[in-house]
Amino acid sequence: MSIAKNLEDIKATFFDSECLLVAVSKTKPIEDLREAYEAGVRDFGENKVQEIQAKQPDMPDDTRWHMIGHLQRNKVKYIAPFVHLIHSVDSFKLLKEIDKQGKKVDRQISVLLQIHIAEEESKFGFDQAELNEMLASADFRELSHVNVIGLMGMATFTENEGQIRKEFKGLKQLFEKLKSENLPEFVKMKELSMGMSSDYLIAQQEGSTMVRIGSSIFGARNYN
Ligand SMILES: *Cc1c(COP(=O)(O)O)cnc(C)c1O
Repeated sequence: MSIAKNLEDIKATFFDSECLLVAVSKTKPIEDLREAYEAGVRDFGENKVQEIQAKQPDMPDDTRWHMIGHLQRNKVKYIAPFVHLIHSVDSFKLLKEIDKQGKKVDRQISVLLQIHIAEEESKFGFDQAELNEMLASADFRELSHVNVIGLMGMATFTENEGQIRKEFKGLKQLFEKLKSENLPEFVKMKELSMGMSSDYLIAQQEGSTMVRIGSSIFGARNYN
């Protein structure tokens, strides 16, 4: 099955045709990314800074790089000059570092706040208390080189559709609630990044504006 055909098949199933497809190309060779690019994809998701750095020079300039994995503060500087959107901001400390690096390269860096919605402890993200604390703090209002444009979440890895739907619903509710709150200018709740190969249809039904799809496009990942 070709990458172009996979993309076409996936798009044909979309519940929401306006929803952005971010092609998750982690572990995949540059030839695969080029094939997706040729088929019209411009948004690519990676979860390792080193891998984005390695691939970025080999792709056309209008490629939009999405950082979707856990990001260490000491690595922000490597992607700050070109990253399109960081989906995985999971602490205030990380957000402050992105702001600092944005200032250095004179860019407003767009980010999503990753919210912990799954049952598993292993997944990253803010819980409600951490989020409220950050949003209410004076330091938060001082940020100048980040645009917080929405939220990201990953549902529990389960076959239980009801549970996945409930978690996505909860994230959408939080998204709507934040929309109505009086937050600084640089916070605008526009994007809701939820859904992967196994659950993107549920996510779209629950209001996702961006799905992050990897294995259904590029095939299973080989981690050796
Ligand atoms: C790997 C990854 C995906 C894509 O997963 P697939 O199941 O291959 O579609 C989506 N989001 C995040 C955060 C990921 O790390």
